Amino acid sequence: MREINEIDFEKEVLTGTNVLVDFYSTECPPCEALAPKLESLEALFGQEIKFLKIFRQGNRDLADKLGVKSSPTLLFYQDGEEVSGRLTGGIKRAEIVRELKPILGKERVTKIMKTQKPTVVHADVAILGAGPGGLTAGLYLCQARINTVLVDIALPGGNVSTTHMVSNYPGFIEPQPGYLLSHNMSEQTKRCGTTYRVAVDVTHVDLEKKEITIDGQETIKAKRIIIATGTSPNRIGIPGEQEFKGQGISYCATCDAKYFHDKEVVVIGGGNSAIEEADFISKFASKITIVHQFDQLQANKTAQEKAFANPKISFLFSHEPRAFKKAGDKMVVEVEDLKTKELKTLTSDGIFVFIGQKPNLEMFGNLIELDQWGYIKTDEDMRTNIGGVFAVGDVGSKKYRQITTAIADGTIAAIAITREIG
Ligand SMILES: Cc1cc2nc3c(=O)[nH]c(=O)nc-3n(C[C@H](O)[C@H](O)[C@H](O)COP(=O)(O)OP(=O)(O)OC[C@H]3O[C@@H](n4cnc5c(N)ncnc54)[C@H](O)[C@@H]3O)c2cc1C
Repeated sequence: MREINEIDFEKEVLTGTNVLVDFYSTECPPCEALAPKLESLEALFGQEIKFLKIFRQGNRDLADKLGVKSSPTLLFYQDGEEVSGRLTGGIKRAEIVRELKPILGKERVTKIMKTQKPTVVHADVAILGAGPGGLTAGLYLCQARINTVLVDIALPGGNVSTTHMVSNYPGFIEPQPGYLLSHNMSEQTKRCGTTYRVAVDVTHVDLEKKEITIDGQETIKAKRIIIATGTSPNRIGIPGEQEFKGQGISYCATCDAKYFHDKEVVVIGGGNSAIEEADFISKFASKITIVHQFDQLQANKTAQEKAFANPKISFLFSHEPRAFKKAGDKMVVEVEDLKTKELKTLTSDGIFVFIGQKPNLEMFGNLIELDQWGYIKTDEDMRTNIGGVFAVGDVGSKKYRQITTAIADGTIAAIAITREIG
């Protein structure tokens, strides 16, 4: 992609052609993840759209003038006017293609996309999931000089990247911000030489053939696959939850608590996550009501004591949510008193749901053997029932799901694979 600076901007961007501009930074993992996607799209669309990049730190005045606040940010121009939506963060190839449609027309984009040639990459090991389990397996395999591709539908880091503070990861005297811990894990594995394919759409997985197709175009053929796809937050499954997800209902305090400065929130749940995250939210919110289905908390004693001593937190035990609604810009949750069956409503500025996690397994069909709770069964080397397929971390059947247990699994699988094919 051609690089320009703010002096060239008017001539190159504002003079009446179709242009895609990538504001990038150095030492920016999402920018690195984006670069190959832009290159492959330039090869397809380069005749119709100018692909340009601008170094954000070196062109601060222009970035400020355009309101570009993070890297990478993609801007799209047609006839000198900015069009389409801006893209930032872990940008997927499919999202860029979507934004090209208003500029080139849907049919033209579809026609050009059909001309792309499928590509095949051969690897010894393909890892699905770049959380602590997958990253650790990637590190060990890389250090054993095993050719490994690490695939993630998001940016690397997994659940740790959205955990506010981690205080139980050995080697650090002070609690570590989750984003920093996961950033360091990811950079360590990447620096070793593991190939990354992150913020991609995993379009097909064939565990028996050991093939993974990403973005509908690139197939990774591996000798071994490690499933490290972790878990996602459970949904309550009541009316209004889907509708207001991201618009009043959140599953991530690290991501969203900052928007509730001096506001009132409701937290649903009573386990460790709910109680620890409520404590974090209380740094911002003025009042937190924890709604829990049982008559006591399930969180560990330390977390409980902290929550009970927090003057901003109150508790509604033996209540379950039945529906979410909106009243103006307020969120309303209808709760049932499980003892009296009486229904009441709680009105707040936002709702956080922390009621446990479920394994991310949708891609893997029904050949893989699961335990009674739906997690992947493995042997002590992390082998699943499918030959050459391993499972590590939270997605596997186990009693305790922590960063340390995920990295232990990743270590074990990587060493077992190294013994087999190293
Ligand atoms: C709110 C919260 C707070 C926590 N706090 C702590 C703590 O303080 N200390 C502690 O030790 N543990 C904590 N945990 C638990 C810890 O985060 C997990 O045990 C750990 O992250 C598990 O690592 P993992 O690699 O198995 O999976 P994850 O961290 O879940 O990572 C899985 C990765 O797989 C990716 N993925 C999902 N589906 C696919 C797919 N189809 N293809 C490719 N990639 C995919 C995801 O994008 C993700 O990056 C916390 C968890 C939560 C939810």
